[in-house]
Amino acid sequence: MSAFNEERVLSIHHWTDRLFTFKTTRDASLRFSNGHFTMIGLRVNDKPLLRAYSIVSANYEDHLEFLSIKVPDGPLTSRLQHIQVGDTVIVGRKPTGTLLIDYLLPGKRLFLLSTGTGLAPFMSIVRDPATYEKFEQIILVHGVRQKDELAYHDLLVEHLPAHEFLGDMISSQLRYYPTVTREAYRNMGRVTDLIQTGKMFEDLDLPPLDAAGDRVMICGSPGMLRDLKHMLEGQGFVEGNTSKPGAFVIERAFAEQ
Ligand SMILES: Cc1cc2nc3c(=O)[nH]c(=O)nc-3n(C[C@H](O)[C@H](O)[C@H](O)COP(=O)(O)OP(=O)(O)OC[C@H]3O[C@@H](n4cnc5c(N)ncnc54)[C@H](O)[C@@H]3O)c2cc1C
Repeated sequence: MSAFNEERVLSIHHWTDRLFTFKTTRDASLRFSNGHFTMIGLRVNDKPLLRAYSIVSANYEDHLEFLSIKVPDGPLTSRLQHIQVGDTVIVGRKPTGTLLIDYLLPGKRLFLLSTGTGLAPFMSIVRDPATYEKFEQIILVHGVRQKDELAYHDLLVEHLPAHEFLGDMISSQLRYYPTVTREAYRNMGRVTDLIQTGKMFEDLDLPPLDAAGDRVMICGSPGMLRDLKHMLEGQGFVEGNTSKPGAFVIERAFAEQ
């Protein structure tokens, strides 16, 4: 059996000239956990051109959704950004990754810390009822340069709290903290700074991080992961992985060349 499914593009939404979202069909045999990534791509000159992508849609939905950067000279995204409804996208049949609530020890609060497209895996995690059963409160943090890069802002603020099945859990347990670095916005600054200075906790009126009851997932640039891992380890948080659960888990939103 092929390692890939061929899926059809159902819809596309361009957030900015650097960022877009698209939905595809989902082969009924594809299984994944919320937070997983898989290899996706296009056939170029009859060969698959693939990159790792987190799955935005929740694992109970009958379509797949992805959030993508547009790298002007990027081998995949210089092409992928031009896809149209009806086009074919290749989707790997073996989703994987470390951003699973199963890889975290039990805790009270779950912090989901993201920058840029690092929000993608958390969009499936915040739509998973199991997240709200395991944790009392979920704090979703998304850092971007400009406010129009706050993908899914309206979904998080308006639509999910009114969701037929998840709405009550989301309204009472999910806090969303978007922050912007390069233009005026209600929350401003880098995620790392906002945590280190305590500003984010003041803004949310929440107690600071505590390794005893808090659990953290991080998905962002390699630099952001490095800084936050260092900070958390300094506060006694132990990293978890696919074989041993811990107090925090991390995944790169992209690899640096
Ligand atoms: C575990 C994992 C999960 C990923 N999930 C996603 C995802 O959900 N959405 C997504 O758009 N990308 C994601 N990526 C990055 C993705 O695999 C590709 O790098 C991206 O699609 C660009 O592909 P490319 O061939 O056009 O350029 P590449 O040659 O792959 O990248 C060129 C350069 O562009 C920059 N870059 C690449 N991706 C990003 C990004 N997402 N944000 C900012 N800068 C970037 C980097 O500097 C990189 O070196 C993920 C990467 C990893 C390792």
